[in-house]
Amino acid sequence: MTIRTRIAPSPTGLDLHIGNAYTALINSVLARKHGGQFIVRIEDTDRTRLVEGSEQKILSSLAWLGIPHAEGPDIGGPYAPYRQSERLPSYKTYAEELVANGHAYYCFCTASRLEEMRKTQEANKLPPMYDGLCKAIAPDDARKRVAAGERHVIRMNVPDTGVTTFTDLIRGEISFENKLIDDQVLLKSDGYPTYHLGVVVDDHVMNITHIIRGEEWIPSTPKHILLYRFFGWDIPNIAHVSVLRNPDRSKLSKRKNPVWVSDYRAKGFLPEAIRNYLAGMAWSYPDGRDIFSTEEMIGVFDMSQLKTTAPIFDTEKLRWVNGEYIRNMDAASLRSALYAFDSRIPHDDALTDRILPLVAERMKTLAEFWTLASFFYEKPAETEKPCDRNICAELATALSHAEWTHGAMEQSVRTLADAKGWKAKDVFMQLRLAITGKTVGPPLLESMEVLGKEESLGRLSRYI
Ligand code: GLU
Repeated sequence: MTIRTRIAPSPTGLDLHIGNAYTALINSVLARKHGGQFIVRIEDTDRTRLVEGSEQKILSSLAWLGIPHAEGPDIGGPYAPYRQSERLPSYKTYAEELVANGHAYYCFCTASRLEEMRKTQEANKLPPMYDGLCKAIAPDDARKRVAAGERHVIRMNVPDTGVTTFTDLIRGEISFENKLIDDQVLLKSDGYPTYHLGVVVDDHVMNITHIIRGEEWIPSTPKHILLYRFFGWDIPNIAHVSVLRNPDRSKLSKRKNPVWVSDYRAKGFLPEAIRNYLAGMAWSYPDGRDIFSTEEMIGVFDMSQLKTTAPIFDTEKLRWVNGEYIRNMDAASLRSALYAFDSRIPHDDALTDRILPLVAERMKTLAEFWTLASFFYEKPAETEKPCDRNICAELATALSHAEWTHGAMEQSVRTLADAKGWKAKDVFMQLRLAITGKTVGPPLLESMEVLGKEESLGRLSRYI
């Protein structure tokens, strides 16, 4: 059996949600481990929630993240089209098939009747469910009303008794009482399928062998299981991964954490670091290490080791992982990543290579390069604290006689401090302020070596 996995995002957000990136990674790793295919299908049947440009953003974020798909709306494939809005006739056929064999029925209830029903249920503290009124209509009558053009939907005919059970690859057996499962709408009056019909039909016809999605879809799964049975189709393997949480354990939300992949890209995170961090959300590398590549993960991954505990998405930890990746990059890769990330950085490889050893150790994101290193390229406009003119003047004189190595400069600053009875620490701080404009930053004298004597003395003399 060829393993086929998928993500089926709805283009209803601004970009790829980091939680969807997580499920994409797990799906992709499983497929790659077994030489299978990971595919992308766009579930765009809820026309009211579509967001312009969302699909492109989802696909480009997946590509940027380095989670490649074998089939999808952008690249096609043997089961095209991969956009549900382009597959409408197929859903109607399948829904009609269920009506014909009694597993679904036409429903003519108006919006106002449904609204009234909902209100009564609410008042009586009952779960909101369709009350089954149209189930009682004789099939022939229903067909005549449909033929006459009466507005209708198709609902699934859920048995009133019994239990629907499925075995989740990660969570084990999960059961739902049928009497609590709603007669879900399958085909809407506009001819579009609902999520439930669309997802079951497409996972079946696209030969998906493993459905791996977020735990928020567990309540939908018994409906899907019933649909598979109604159609007489084999049920794929199903696993629900835990949703990512904020450090306070609430569901990852925009208020507490950036949620879009593009937010992390804009902040200077590296795709391989994000993949590494996401991988560790509910899974551990067998030897316990924190840093591993996706290739290494593929080598040892085992679905059954996914944990069900709430994975905490902690931006600080992600920053740490990202810093590790930055430090492990060779100079050429880091240089090109920086040039691509920040257009302010001059493409002067020799200069970049002299600056990087001074700042890379302190960088957790690509964005921090400029914060740490901008003074190499431009004179600091203002200092955070005013410089002491007297100290700057003495420093300029002393350093003008120094050989331009950090050892010689250090000697001359210390000699000056001793001679004047100043604390060396204070003198170095004045020097740092004059040269970099900041109180903290990379090693100062090494940075001045890179800046050169003329430029450094020029910066000092501005304060005299
Ligand atoms: N369209 C659903 C979503 O927006 C797909 C859920 C699933 O994977 O079945 O995520």
